Amino acid sequence: MLNSVAGRDSDAGFWEWERDREGPFRWTRPRFALAAPAAPGPGRFVCLELASPLQGNSLTVQAGGKRSHLHLLQGWQVVDLRLTDATSVEFEVGLAFQAPDDTRALGLMIREVTFHDDPELHEIRRRRHANALLNSAEFAEGREQLASFPTHLRITMSKRCNIANEKPCVYCSWDWAKRMERGSPTFTPKFLSDMGQFMDLALAVNDCSYGEPPLEASFGEVVNMATQAGRTFEFTSNGQTLSKKKRDLLLGRPARVHVSVDAATAAGYNRYRDHRFELVVKNLRALCSERAAFGGLPEVFVSFIVMRSNRGEISDFLRLMKDVGVDRVTFRTLYVEDRLDTRRLVHHGWQFDYDAECLDADELSPIGEACLAEGLANDMAVSIEWDEFARNSGPAHDGTPICSEPWKTAYLLDRGIMPCCYGREAMIPWQDIDESQLESSLHAAFNSQPMVELRRDLSQGRLGKYCDRAQGCPIVKQMAKRPATQTSPPSRNRRRA
Ligand code: SF4
Repeated sequence: MLNSVAGRDSDAGFWEWERDREGPFRWTRPRFALAAPAAPGPGRFVCLELASPLQGNSLTVQAGGKRSHLHLLQGWQVVDLRLTDATSVEFEVGLAFQAPDDTRALGLMIREVTFHDDPELHEIRRRRHANALLNSAEFAEGREQLASFPTHLRITMSKRCNIANEKPCVYCSWDWAKRMERGSPTFTPKFLSDMGQFMDLALAVNDCSYGEPPLEASFGEVVNMATQAGRTFEFTSNGQTLSKKKRDLLLGRPARVHVSVDAATAAGYNRYRDHRFELVVKNLRALCSERAAFGGLPEVFVSFIVMRSNRGEISDFLRLMKDVGVDRVTFRTLYVEDRLDTRRLVHHGWQFDYDAECLDADELSPIGEACLAEGLANDMAVSIEWDEFARNSGPAHDGTPICSEPWKTAYLLDRGIMPCCYGREAMIPWQDIDESQLESSLHAAFNSQPMVELRRDLSQGRLGKYCDRAQGCPIVKQMAKRPATQTSPPSRNRRRA
């Protein structure tokens, strides 16, 4: 941890500890230094989890009489440096940062520093960072064909669910998903490994199954693979399947478990799902308590889909989750265009009307503000998904494409190859993929004509045809609100493949 190395007299150039949404960090000065642990030898490395607030930044590293230069991404990233024979390492940040109303001379934000002796670990982190830099440059240029691999990988490791096998949750497009999955491969550890650089170079892996990952016999193996070299693995569970045996596979892993709850009481939960609310709360409490001895990992997030029938439960839900000990509550919304076979039904004696449950943007806006305020009042981190997606992946108004998803994320799902999470149709079906040459076939699909055309539209400041059919997408909604004459500027450096 940073506080074990950067708080010593021998380390210099750090400001005091601060905290952001993800945890503690320290600002460096534009020049800073770290002392390597005693008894240095060849093959020593240092790994830094750092963030640059500025685009186009770099770091000059002086260690053991050798000087090297490293380009940085904007935002948080992991860099791993070789320190052969060095007893100390000095850093100089290319672009110093001046924060508004802050007189300090700032360099980078650093959350964690770890020294290690593992050349394989160093090599995989070095390759991931180099690929991320190339991917970021290709996105900024609006490249239609990519030499890089996307930095985020979405997979589907499960096709079955303990709830849906009895009766799907009211808002789940279960039957549609199962039709879409027909003929798709099973995402075994071998299949994931055959994805090659899609898996190796991803900075984060997320599961997007219409299913329950912990039900799969290979769950532990996939968790190990997806969290390799400190990478984050995220998946969603209904929480009922997080038994002691499955929780043990997650302890100490850099995983993020999302548990969908959507209700503050057993009766509320039964309206949408089933009678096992107490089991979900019990499993969550156990996981939050057990992870304390494992560095607080995995992270535990719960989600609450805000609907007309449960919006009055938000305060109670936040209080309950504070008591359970989760890290964050994510508020989500129903997708307007979802592919439900039955939009009105009676579920455990309660009438559910999907369309009547959907809240429009004008209704969601004050609800989002109230959720944030309630989160503050309850000392609970809160995220508003319908705002954050557009903020993170949407138009930056700096000449880059208006959506980053088709560059930065590979949706290799059992429902097909998709360009984003709002897609309901496969851009490329699995029938077009040669599974005997999985990595190259997937890369060809990622650069195929439909993807190229979508990237062209987005880089020229307009939505693609695919987007027009994704009415649940926050970016599509945001673009629909703009005056007809307003377009985003085309990408910088219009260099094409
Ligand atoms: S629908 Fe279009 S704008 Fe929305 S996330 Fe997908 S590719 Fe991006």
